[in-house]
Amino acid sequence: MPSSYDPNNIFTKIIAGDIPSHKIFEDDVCVSIMDIMPESRGHVLVVPKKGARNLIDVDPDDLAELMKRVQKIAVAVKKSMRADGILLRQSSEEVAGQTVYHLHFHIIPCYAGQRRNRHGEVEVSNDDLAEIAEHIRAAL
Ligand code: 5GP
Repeated sequence: MPSSYDPNNIFTKIIAGDIPSHKIFEDDVCVSIMDIMPESRGHVLVVPKKGARNLIDVDPDDLAELMKRVQKIAVAVKKSMRADGILLRQSSEEVAGQTVYHLHFHIIPCYAGQRRNRHGEVEVSNDDLAEIAEHIRAAL
C-alpha cells in the first residue's frame, strides 16, 4: 500500500499554534521555525501549510511557491548567521532519514572549519533558539 499524508503530525500542530515553536517567518504558504535539534547554529525548517507527506506527493505548483520562500529564508539565514554556506536537505521516507511525515526543507548553515551535529544529536535551550530566531527575523 502506498504511503499517504497523515495530518496528525507535529508540524500541523505547530502550524495551528497548538505546539509552541520559534517562528522566523510565516505567510499564507508556509511557516519557518527553528529546528529544536539543530545540526548547526541557525538550522531552520521551512514547512508548507498545505499538507503533503514529502517531495514525492507534493503538488509541483505548491512546491514552486514553497521554494521561493526556501531561497529567501536561506539568504537571510546565511547573512544573519554569517555562515560560509548553506546545506539544503529534504528527506523523503524513513530510509532517507525522514522522521516527520509532513513535507519540510532543512536550511542548515555551514561554517568553515566547524563540524555539524548529527541529525537529532543535540538539543538546544529555548533561550538560545529564541535569541537566534530573533537574529534571523531581523534579516527577513
Ligand atoms: P526529518 O527527520 O523528517 O528530516 O526532520 C524532522 C526535523 O524536525 C528534525 O530535524 C527534528 O529535530 C525536528 N523536530 C522534531 N520535532 C520538532 C518539534 O517539536 N519542534 C521543532 N521546531 N522541530 C522538531
